[in-house]
Amino acid sequence: MKNDFAPEPYRIKMVEPLRRTTREERLVLLKEAGYNIFGLKSEDVYIDMLTDSGTGAMSDRQWSALMQGDEAYAGSRSFYKLETVVKEITGYEHFLPAHQGRGAEQVALPYFVKKKGMYFISNMHFDTTRAHVELAGGRAVDCVDEVCFDTERYHPFKGNFDLERLETLILEHGKENIAGIIVTLTNNSAGGQPVSLENQRGVREICDRYDLPYIIDGARYAENAYFIKMREEGYAEKELSAIAKEQFALGDLFLMSAKKDGLVNIGGLIAIKDDEDLFRYCRTRLVPLEGFPTYGGMSGRDMEALAVGLKEGLDFEYQRHRTDQARYLGESLRAAGVPIQYPPGGHAVFVDCKRIAPHIPYDRFPAQAVVNALYVEAAVRGVEIGSFLLGRDPDTGENLESPMEFMRLTIPRRTYTYAHLDHVAEGVKKVHENRDALRGYTFEYEPPVLRHFTARLRPL
Ligand SMILES: *Cc1c(COP(=O)(O)O)cnc(C)c1O
Repeated sequence: MKNDFAPEPYRIKMVEPLRRTTREERLVLLKEAGYNIFGLKSEDVYIDMLTDSGTGAMSDRQWSALMQGDEAYAGSRSFYKLETVVKEITGYEHFLPAHQGRGAEQVALPYFVKKKGMYFISNMHFDTTRAHVELAGGRAVDCVDEVCFDTERYHPFKGNFDLERLETLILEHGKENIAGIIVTLTNNSAGGQPVSLENQRGVREICDRYDLPYIIDGARYAENAYFIKMREEGYAEKELSAIAKEQFALGDLFLMSAKKDGLVNIGGLIAIKDDEDLFRYCRTRLVPLEGFPTYGGMSGRDMEALAVGLKEGLDFEYQRHRTDQARYLGESLRAAGVPIQYPPGGHAVFVDCKRIAPHIPYDRFPAQAVVNALYVEAAVRGVEIGSFLLGRDPDTGENLESPMEFMRLTIPRRTYTYAHLDHVAEGVKKVHENRDALRGYTFEYEPPVLRHFTARLRPL
């Protein structure tokens, strides 16, 4: 089976030993963590698939670049190196660093909210993006193509906008009430699903028609470019960097969590095509929120590592292996009858827990039950992306029902081997076999915002 999948395009130069635990130990550890895997210590986890954010391995070139970090407050040489790479990749005129993606969001997004209650429309808002839209006084509306909710059905671009609905939403609310369109590449919340260039061009046309800003939330823009090369007609022969440029050419503003396709452990970017006013606004806000414009919350050495990592993220062999890892895990699970969001996206496999545990109602968190069972079974840490994460309606206080109840198994970059993924698949298969025994959860402690991070639960 492995023969269909790209072998590692690197060799391992340094190792981090992992600790194994027993099932009995894990039962106690999970209880102590309030049945919330965010409360576990990472050393009590064998394979950590909580997130691909800042959890990847840097290359030897990145590690050696660190030594060249210029830690000057103003005018750091490392800033100019990074700026050159960002401008080359994006084709944009302006660049500002930020400490991570949400820092970039906090700096830039309020610019577009000219009055309270204006709408951002996205294929799907990532959770921090939604939070910053709301903190800025805006409202977040998702407008993804419905095919994305049909987990069984193959579609090459399940992150696409529903363009018809996008236009309807603009007309319904009035274009003067739309703050901007946010194109999330890839669509993280729906399974790391890509957006086609044809669809992106459609969004641009609508932005032009109604004179709206086009914002790229592009943490995984390079993975998206890879899928375009492999799946969209006319792109097979193009370099990933050329496809990426085509994506950027459609946008006005690019916000990035560099902890993803930047291949670094911390960092973020703001790049602006040519809007001088927006650039000055961001530069002014950057100073109190993130730092002086030539470091923006990053150290010189981090900027050096990012300048190298951004280029490595656009390497075809790297992307082929990375996405093949997700495909490999996805195929292993599907072959065993485990329902997943199909096809798998770039950075993760999303296991469809609504179908694994239909006997657990949404407000008893079926995906959380699967996540916890997997930890006990195999010392693998996945994460719930469903109604537990979604939270409550701010007006009524009712638990919101997520359209999908997923366990996300996220693959850190250049970190685990196919053998590790076999271990994960075996664990999930066991949980799936014993699915009738899964039980839901209720709250012992529920924080008022972003509850999933620090909530404590009790099994029913
Ligand atoms: C990770 C991510 C963010 C937030 O970035 P952080 O670096 O975690 O602050 C925003 N948007 C998308 C699509 C992301 O994946």
